[in-house]
Order: sequence, then structure tokens, then C-alpha cells
Amino acid sequence: MTQLPDIDMKRIQKKRIVLHQRRFKLFLTAGEIRKIVVSVASKINKDYRLKEPCLIPVLNGSFLFAADLVRELNIQAEVAFVKKSSYSGTRSAGKVRGLLGLNQDIRGRHVIVIEDIVDSGRTLVAVLKDLRRHHPASIRVAALLFKPGAYRQKEKIHYVGRRIPDDFVVGYGLDFDGLGRNLRSIYMLDLRK
Ligand code: 5GP
Ligand code: MG
Repeated sequence: MTQLPDIDMKRIQKKRIVLHQRRFKLFLTAGEIRKIVVSVASKINKDYRLKEPCLIPVLNGSFLFAADLVRELNIQAEVAFVKKSSYSGTRSAGKVRGLLGLNQDIRGRHVIVIEDIVDSGRTLVAVLKDLRRHHPASIRVAALLFKPGAYRQKEKIHYVGRRIPDDFVVGYGLDFDGLGRNLRSIYMLDLRK
């Protein structure tokens, strides 16, 4: 069997990176993200011990958060990814298209929507509206990151990993025009000249 090389922490935890000619600075290390994920998972483990929830991660951004989160769950749970894209560049685009890929019957189920980040909340509201049409027993939301300064909705976000300022971030699933999803840490747009 071939041995996987050890993770090179210096390479994956650079203090600064450049994507599409924009500079980003380290904001959350892989270790910090890990702690956040574990703390969200432990709350879900506690709240859903006997409920067998259906987790619905919203692609693309939430794929890493979802992958790490579900591996920390010690309860019975199903996972069904959906897709809904409203974002291009560094600003929320406003328009949200329909929900793609829900092939799970969620009627009467306890649903947990898994989001990478909630910004204005428009995406989340559209996702919740679509999901409610399928009559789940309950819906809660788990978001790795939440920008309270940008949020414009009434929907409660039950599990917030980390509240962050209203600035653009990349990494750990989140992209900047297609790049940066593979980064293990999260970086924030550096606005300094
Ligand atoms: P909202 O509809 O809440 O304004 O935006 C939600 C979606 O926009 C998120 O699911 C995410 O895909 C994207 N988004 C919001 N803020 C950021 C950010 O700071 N960085 C990145 N890469 N995507 C973001
Ligand atoms: Mg998203």
C-alpha cells in the first residue's frame, strides 16, 4: 500500500494568498474550523438523538463543511445534497434559481439545512420556501459562517458555527469566482492597499 505523505502545514496555512489578482489574508485556520465543526456537530447530536434527521447541504459551497460535519455525528442521519446558486464574484447577486437535485422524500422528516455561509439570507429563504412545500416535520438550519451585519431575514439560524464581519471570505468549500474551494483554511479579502 502506498503511504500518503504527511500534510505540509506550512503549505496549507499560508498567511496570505492571491486569487484572481486579489489578496486574501488568513482568517480561520484548519484547526479553528475543525473546532467549530465539532461544536456544531455536538449540538446536533444532542438535539437529534432520537430523530433520525435528513441533512440537506446546499451545494457547492457546503460540500466540505457537510463532509466534516456528518463524520462527527453519532446519530442516525440521511444526507441529500441540493443545489441553488445566487452568487458570482465578491457580491451577492440577488437572484436565486430553483432548488435542484432533491430526490429524497422529506415529508414528515426532520430536516437540517447545511449552509457554508449565510450572507443576506436570500438563498436560505428561497431554499426553506422550496423545502417547506415538501411538508417536512421540522426544518432547522446549520451554517458554518454567518454575517449578522448583512442578514436581512426573519428566519432563525439554529446552529451558527461562527459569526463573521460583513467581508468576503474564501476557502474550505467557499470560492471566489471558481477558485479557493480546496483551501483547508478560510481567508478574508484583504482590502488594504
Ligand atoms: P446570501 O443569499 O445569504 O446573500 O448568500 C448566500 C450564498 O452566497 C452562500 O451560500 C455562498 O455561496 C455565497 N456567499 C455569501 N457570502 C460569501 C462570501 O463571503 N464568500 C463566498 N465565497 N461566498 C459567499
Ligand atoms: Mg452556499
